[in-house]
Amino acid sequence: MSFISDNISSLKRQIPSYVKLVAVSKGRPVSDILEAYNGGHRIFGENRVQELLSKKDLLPGDIEWHLIGHLQTNKVKYVVPFVSMIQSVDSFKLLRAVNTAALKINRRIDCLLQFHIAEEETKYGFALKEVRELAGSDEVRRMEAVRICGVMGMATFTSDMEQVRDEFRYLAACFRELKQDFFADKDHFREISMGMSGDYTVAIEEGSTVIRIGSIIFGGR
Ligand SMILES: *Cc1c(COP(=O)(O)O)cnc(C)c1O
Repeated sequence: MSFISDNISSLKRQIPSYVKLVAVSKGRPVSDILEAYNGGHRIFGENRVQELLSKKDLLPGDIEWHLIGHLQTNKVKYVVPFVSMIQSVDSFKLLRAVNTAALKINRRIDCLLQFHIAEEETKYGFALKEVRELAGSDEVRRMEAVRICGVMGMATFTSDMEQVRDEFRYLAACFRELKQDFFADKDHFREISMGMSGDYTVAIEEGSTVIRIGSIIFGGR
């Protein structure tokens, strides 16, 4: 077995079975992705549309691609035909664009709402108040071609794990509040995507159901 598949296997042994592992393959060659694929892995994450498009044509069609980076509305039409989840929905406008594009081609796209939980200014994402407005709006409730499956967030890039834990705990609390107030009858609203190579154990302790791992699987960058 290749070292990439070894890394995936040992990660999977460490995490609870309900936690989904997204192998983040940004910046990695197609050959690395194929190694993981040949070891049985199917869920991959990319953060750039152009890179995702050029890679997916060279790889097997049964890969589940998750978009995990900022998506511009003018690029929505390129990813909607094949992605299995957009984890980085960070505006009402984007959600609307995904719904419109998916309706046209008769697909339904699973989405996560990305929260801004880090202290850095540069990261995209909603505040809880904005998501409450979105989730409560008639327009969103009528959207037939997007399925809001939960929340996603990235913690501050810091070695202070207590700060990271607080941010994950906050995201999990937001999830629970939204579940109770807007999605109680929606079984598919159940995902909390948090945790990367440096903080996934803390994320899982705080309730993560989806971790997005690059460096541990493919090697340091
Ligand atoms: C790059 C990236 C990851 C993975 O980061 P690693 O530290 O390499 O595990 C996870 N999520 C997002 C949104 C990313 O951009």
